[in-house]
Amino acid sequence: MSTGRRRKLLLSNPGVEFRRFHTAELRHGAVRSEDKKRHGCAFCRGYIELPLSAAQQQELSASDAPSAELRRMRTRMRNTRRRVVGACPVWKCRDCGVSLCMVGRDSCFERWHRGEVPRQASPPSEG
Ligand SMILES: [Zn+2]
Ligand SMILES: [Zn+2]
Repeated sequence: MSTGRRRKLLLSNPGVEFRRFHTAELRHGAVRSEDKKRHGCAFCRGYIELPLSAAQQQELSASDAPSAELRRMRTRMRNTRRRVVGACPVWKCRDCGVSLCMVGRDSCFERWHRGEVPRQASPPSEG
């Protein structure tokens, strides 16, 4: 299963149950990821969308293109306003199988396993 799909699954209601579920066999230990490719943190990695710039808004309102074309223009502009945020940690949860930051007292690892909902939407590249 791809990391993106796994993350999506873990964000669903049964997924939250799983994250908070601790037994003797299932302890959600952090292990160093051995993957060559670093994956984004399941908790903090994502993207935010900034509002359109003044110049972009002006371009839209000044345009006399048909509304279907205007919608396409707006979508294109919004895509340019996306910013990827968050980290690509070397740690991952052995049981969840997703990357998580271990930094700080209130790390992504801890918050993830409290069942908290990440603030950011999934990165567009993960599916
Ligand atoms: Zn993180
Ligand atoms: Zn876990």
